[in-house]
Amino acid sequence: MGFLSGKKGLIVGIANDQSIAWGCAKHMRAAGAEIAVTYLNEKADRFVRPLAEQVEAAIYEPLNVSKPEEMEAVFKKIEKEWGKLDFVIHAIAFARLEDLHGRVIDCSAEGFAESMDISCHSFLRLAKHAEPLMTDGGSMITLSYYGSEKVIDNYNVMGVAKAALEAGMRYAAAELGPKGISVNAVSPGPLLTRAASGIAHFDDLMKYAIENSPSGKLVTIDDVGQYATFLVSDAARHITGNTLFVDGGLHIKG
Ligand code: NAD
Repeated sequence: MGFLSGKKGLIVGIANDQSIAWGCAKHMRAAGAEIAVTYLNEKADRFVRPLAEQVEAAIYEPLNVSKPEEMEAVFKKIEKEWGKLDFVIHAIAFARLEDLHGRVIDCSAEGFAESMDISCHSFLRLAKHAEPLMTDGGSMITLSYYGSEKVIDNYNVMGVAKAALEAGMRYAAAELGPKGISVNAVSPGPLLTRAASGIAHFDDLMKYAIENSPSGKLVTIDDVGQYATFLVSDAARHITGNTLFVDGGLHIKG
């Protein structure tokens, strides 16, 4: 029996065993939660499936958030299998490389809209689908980064998307609070994942974090996963509307 026993959660964003979402899944499962896992597409399936098996995922469904019918199907399945939901982890982001690697003012309207849709609005869509299933209250977490607040070299359009994501998180927290649903963003320091490898000079960001954070170390997906596990527990019931840093204190220096 762990402190998440009896809780059922949806985790979106596992690409491989380096993913922040995987750090969340394994610690939440270890704490006793039942887990639903999604995978992006057939190509991702062979990497994600063994991980889903490792956490004995009760539900395993494809989900490209750009396909409304897939999101519908995921929540229909959750409703049929579980009839309720206690938490949602949204750990996804996307920007076209030409936008991510260029100036914000050079982004095409289509590329900008796509990165906002996948990286930001998809969180609100998940929240809308999850709300009616969170009959005993619940917790929704998204993943952000300090580039939402400050201009971080090479973070570019993703910084704009994260700023909108954090604002969306706060409005959703206000809207869902009366139903006992908490909504937060967890903001890790840089850690090398597949998404991070798309950011130019990511090595410099990691080096900066080591040299400038009070801890003097990089965070890991386990650090983030353990913190998120606490956040979806009853003990964190009154923590809502925050951007919560897991960055060894880097944000107080940078
Ligand atoms: P990752 O590459 O492991 O995960 C990104 C996920 O986004 C992948 O699983 C991918 O399939 C998914 N995704 C992309 N487009 C999608 C779509 N249309 N539909 C569904 N899923 C889609 O990388 P990660 O670093 O674990 O990223 C998780 C989150 O953490 C992201 O929001 C990222 O911005 C954030 N974050 C990462 C860092 C870091 O340094 N790695 C720091 C702060 C925040």
